[in-house]
Amino acid sequence: MPLFQAAASFSPSGDSFVSGARCVICGRRFDPAYLNNACVCPDHGDEGILDIEYDYEAASARFPASEQPGLWRYRALLPLPWTAPLPPPLTGLTPLYDAPALARAVNCARVLIKDDTRQPTGSFKDRASCLAVALARVQGAPVVATASTGNAAAALAGMAAAMHQTCVIFVPVSAPAAKVAQPLAYGAHVILVRGTYDQAFALCMEACRRKGWYNRNTAYNPCMAEGKKSAAFEIAEDMGWQTPDAVFVGTGDGCILAGLHKGFSDLLRLGRTARIPRLYGVQAEGSDFLCQAWEEGRRTAHAVLAKAPIAARTAADSICAGLPRDRIKAMRAVCESRGRFVRVSDTEILSAVPALARACGVFAEPAGAAPLAGLARAARQGLIAPGDTVCLVVTGSGLKDPGAVTAALSLPETVEGPVSVDPDPAALDDALFRLGLETKHSPFSSL
Ligand SMILES: *Cc1c(COP(=O)(O)O)cnc(C)c1O
Ligand SMILES: [Zn+2]
Repeated sequence: MPLFQAAASFSPSGDSFVSGARCVICGRRFDPAYLNNACVCPDHGDEGILDIEYDYEAASARFPASEQPGLWRYRALLPLPWTAPLPPPLTGLTPLYDAPALARAVNCARVLIKDDTRQPTGSFKDRASCLAVALARVQGAPVVATASTGNAAAALAGMAAAMHQTCVIFVPVSAPAAKVAQPLAYGAHVILVRGTYDQAFALCMEACRRKGWYNRNTAYNPCMAEGKKSAAFEIAEDMGWQTPDAVFVGTGDGCILAGLHKGFSDLLRLGRTARIPRLYGVQAEGSDFLCQAWEEGRRTAHAVLAKAPIAARTAADSICAGLPRDRIKAMRAVCESRGRFVRVSDTEILSAVPALARACGVFAEPAGAAPLAGLARAARQGLIAPGDTVCLVVTGSGLKDPGAVTAALSLPETVEGPVSVDPDPAALDDALFRLGLETKHSPFSSL
């Protein structure tokens, strides 16, 4: 059993298009084989997150590989050996919708919805988890593990079930029962840690190190951003290898933001697209580490690293992060793309849930609707031009968290509540009249 952490498994003969990996702090470069024994830069410990690099010229001919199923369509730019047999991926290719009502509302050319509520386990996290389970399988790891209180746990458990891989999830005892139910249903082993989320995370890291388990932890494993970048590939491919002008996404740890930036950068390097969209990381005002860092002018890796954690609290639980684990890459994504971090209130986020559902029929959890709240804010601030095509990445389904949706519906001005009637047609007509669905009283009422 290996007593090291392997992110990937590459043979010395070079059977992938990965050309190396680079530390996001010091820029030190590593050969692909380094990832067979490690996840992070030895000089910077767990903070020394790596960025995986590719031989774009060689990968170009195989990208996309339309004969491959789902996510594996993009495997030339994923950290996978090109020839290794892979189990079929459960994920890949979610829809991109036009939402003209939203474009009118914010006065821009187009608003596109990338609908990741339609992922197999209901969130964007499937993109990373699918790759994690495949990587675990390729290297023969006995177990794939992660610490999570939410969507990452469900995603890893679901992808592990689909690919018949043993899966262990570390959850703090405080995790809501509903969030533990989905991984249990998928057959994951759930370890309830009597401690905080950070302690559960540390225990998971230690278990992976000691037991040779494959470690999916976000922003520790450099391959997770690689899985997440597939959303950028899909958006551009669906647009005929064009890119939106701006992309909005709810941001907690910053790994999705980093992944989108990586995906759009890859496409530019390949020469498939002409530019990188402005990336907007949308944060809740109670969990706004990256907004603060942005406003404080902390644009370099060292400046972002030097910022102390904040106490985070928001109704959008999937973007609650006091110390965003992928903060260096997230800041780089926003700076290099000339985007922004956008701060919105919980009320704006919760109101965006019914607003999004009504505008285009997509039912999101609060973190998934946050991009719409961010777009509205950015439009009010004059950051959106009339000619812009904007893409909102809707990262999670409203069915995940019915409690939060109930909270959104109880906001006074957002939604009309249900109407109670006695079970008789005349009472119904009265009610319909009051709702404005009936212009005059029907014969029932005059009986
Ligand atoms: C994890 C998650 C996010 C945020 O992703 P980060 O990489 O933590 O920034 C947003 N929305 C949903 C639904 C998520 O599960
Ligand atoms: Zn380093």
